[in-house]
Amino acid sequence: MFKNPKDNNIVSRLIFHLDLDYFYAQCEEIRSPELRNHPLVVCVYSGRNPDSGVVSTSNYKAREFGVKSGMPIKIAKSKLANEDAEFLPIDMSYYNHLSILAMESVRKIADAYEYVGIDECYADFSRYSRSDFSRARKIADFIKSEIKVSTNLTCSIGVGPNKLVAKIASNFQKPDAITIINPQEVKAFIARCDIEDIPGIGPKNRIKLESSGIESVSHLAKFDLFRLKELFGYKIATYLQNAARGIDDTPIRPHVSKQIGRIVTLKNDVTNIENIFPILSSLSSLVYDTLMTRQLSFKSIIVRVVLHNLRQVTCSRNLKLSSTSLEELQNIARSLFLEAIHLHSLSFLDVRRIGITLSDLSSYTGQNKILQYFAEESRNGNQESNKNNKL
Ligand SMILES: [Mg+2]
Repeated sequence: MFKNPKDNNIVSRLIFHLDLDYFYAQCEEIRSPELRNHPLVVCVYSGRNPDSGVVSTSNYKAREFGVKSGMPIKIAKSKLANEDAEFLPIDMSYYNHLSILAMESVRKIADAYEYVGIDECYADFSRYSRSDFSRARKIADFIKSEIKVSTNLTCSIGVGPNKLVAKIASNFQKPDAITIINPQEVKAFIARCDIEDIPGIGPKNRIKLESSGIESVSHLAKFDLFRLKELFGYKIATYLQNAARGIDDTPIRPHVSKQIGRIVTLKNDVTNIENIFPILSSLSSLVYDTLMTRQLSFKSIIVRVVLHNLRQVTCSRNLKLSSTSLEELQNIARSLFLEAIHLHSLSFLDVRRIGITLSDLSSYTGQNKILQYFAEESRNGNQESNKNNKL
């Protein structure tokens, strides 16, 4: 809540939650529009055999047949055995690219923006709209059309006086929808939600609540808080009761993760150094994609190598200035890997897992743009002087 400078009254916040619809599968439909009318399943293949792995996301056509995220690919295939279905491997760097473009439409106009995931964000439009909920639809329409133009993606937007209500609202009617719950409507809206619509309540907690006789959101809202605390502990009980009443004061956090990392287990142990380099390169790209989606720069790099005998060796480097360069990341990852081998005098190499972690992250907007400029300058300068040395 903040004070409206005009009338000095406390006015409501105006919060958006945006969710890109069936994201990975929709990205694939955009790339291959002919797939739109077929069940489409994006899979994470583990590589052990052609069907091992799980479903990541599917389009609505596939969902009609009971395909769900996390389901083994084998089961999804059996459900779609009589259909002309498409199974595709996950392509994170393509999805990241569309995500960056889409989220930029929100980020550039919001008072505050919070990255939640590749297909999800919160944004505060209180100042932008002067907390006038009648302006919310116009803003939401604008964002949706911007995203459509830049990426061809559809999304669902929920608007409410807090993050909780906005999130429930964006999920309320999907896909390609706008649901606006103004402060006066919150109580009635929450009351008609299913108890599992409240973020954090899944089938397990539903059973726990039901066993205490709590079967609806309105019942949860009125339930004796003392008894609720006995069941769930102080923190969760307070959250649950506030949520059931539509209360949530958590701010939009322009959140910067502490680190971004990836570690992969190699299909077969790799004994030849040369064979490690392409793996390191693609691992760098994966980590870099996440970095770019979150619009961050890095200053520290750690390379982690786990050998066949489970011995782990790491090497790290701190840069003088933050970087957003993939080339620099790949070069450093490679030299850190070599350093790790030399430092630990590993004569025989048998790599089982390899990982890269970036830390000392900062957002590369505003002040950091200036730092970035100097970083690029000094790098170019170094490259120039290296060239000159060679000549
Ligand atoms: Mg989504």
